[in-house]
Amino acid sequence: VWNNCLEFIKDNIQEQAFKTWFMPIEAIELTENALYIQVPSKFFYEWLEEHYVKILKVALTKQLGPDAKLLYKIQMEKTSGAKQPYTEQLPSTQRGPVKPQELDVPIQNKNPELKNPFVIPGIRNVKIESQLNSNYSFDNFLEGDSNRLARSAGMAVANKPGGTSFNPLLIFGGVGLGKTHLAHAIGVEIKELYPEKTVLYISAEVFTQQYIDSVRKNTRNDFIYFYQLIDVLIVDDIQFLSGKSGTQDVFFHIFNHLHQNGKQVILTSDKAPVDIQDIEQRLLSRFKWGLSAEISHPDFETRVKIVEGILFRDGVNMPKEIIEYVAKNVNSNIRELEGAIISLIAQSSFNKREVTIDLARQVVEKFVKSVKREISIDYIQKIVSDYFQMDTETLRSKTRKRNIVQARQLAMFFAKKYTKSSLATIGSQIGDRDHATVLHACKTVDNLLETDKEFKKFHDDINIKFSM
Ligand code: ADP
Ligand code: MG
Repeated sequence: VWNNCLEFIKDNIQEQAFKTWFMPIEAIELTENALYIQVPSKFFYEWLEEHYVKILKVALTKQLGPDAKLLYKIQMEKTSGAKQPYTEQLPSTQRGPVKPQELDVPIQNKNPELKNPFVIPGIRNVKIESQLNSNYSFDNFLEGDSNRLARSAGMAVANKPGGTSFNPLLIFGGVGLGKTHLAHAIGVEIKELYPEKTVLYISAEVFTQQYIDSVRKNTRNDFIYFYQLIDVLIVDDIQFLSGKSGTQDVFFHIFNHLHQNGKQVILTSDKAPVDIQDIEQRLLSRFKWGLSAEISHPDFETRVKIVEGILFRDGVNMPKEIIEYVAKNVNSNIRELEGAIISLIAQSSFNKREVTIDLARQVVEKFVKSVKREISIDYIQKIVSDYFQMDTETLRSKTRKRNIVQARQLAMFFAKKYTKSSLATIGSQIGDRDHATVLHACKTVDNLLETDKEFKKFHDDINIKFSM
């Protein structure tokens, strides 16, 4: 009976719609005048009821006579993640028989008015804007140990969307480490290689908002249908779905549909899948079907590469030691690294200042709280005496030899600059001297920095060590 119904329906609706909405149905029981069909989800049931109830009735009436009834069983996993499937029985809303002439063959989206901002009437002509940012490409996504796996998995997916075992591809890692960039890069690359494919980038937050709107406007089915048209779905920051069970539910449904049809899904999350709170087990288990690739903190070398990449992009030159200084100190994430270097470029060009290590230090301090770590007078004496290859005893001694005096004065100068100690304290720690001596030392250093190139070099070499 059901097969005959299917034949009839198939002849009356579009092939794609038939595949999507009728192939998954299973006929499970037939009584005298009632047919039970099993559908994969409640959405499915609602969609059928909204769009295909008439054709179903006509088909069934042909087979079972005017008293034909249709009953649905809905099969899905319980939200708790229990393996036992449960079924829910729902009656078809359209009770009475429908005469064939009443049938207006269902066309998806009969309503001329746009329900969902994305869905355009006449599904076949839907143009979906990919929402991709072409500034985020593989070319400018620099590779390092921290992102190598995620990057190459992304490349593989881009070359064969839906055709690798990386489905879904889940990219996870802390904030500012490049998840969004990589996700866009994959989408951009797919668009290049397969222009005919429908790619959509969306943040989980916007997805959630759209879903809520669709529920409010009673267009949930359109919402679901729209997402099922996509070939490559990229959902950014899925940790945002935590605790939002309605959205998780609908996403689960869409995910399954896409996955079953060989469509590619790419997800990002700022946590490892196991650490996402309040997310349904069944969704988590889907995430694990493919590949979870972590992006971790970039090492120093990668950070240098990234800084150089930014400078190259902006056509700016900067001394290597400054690049390394910034890369060394801004190690929290790439977004901050970028922020620091851009701010440094801006500072130097606005103020027409050369980029010096001092300027770099000021800028970096704004980005990194930990740079302002305590520098002690002892530590300064150690650094200065190491630099001049003497021991700290010599530095503190009463010697008036020129190079030792200069070393001692530099130590005092740096102690004043980098510690909160009073001049008296500095004096007493660096060889039992008074505050006037320290003040004099600082003035001398200031003068020498202006007049003595060699001395200035000593100063700069040592100064940079306090910045590291
Ligand atoms: P996330 O989404 O993980 O928070 P983003 O993708 O927004 O991080 O990256 C933050 C910034 O760092 C972006 O401007 C991005 O272009 C840049 N970035 C991240 N990783 C790299 C990389 N490997 N090479 C170049 N730039 C990167
Ligand atoms: Mg992001």
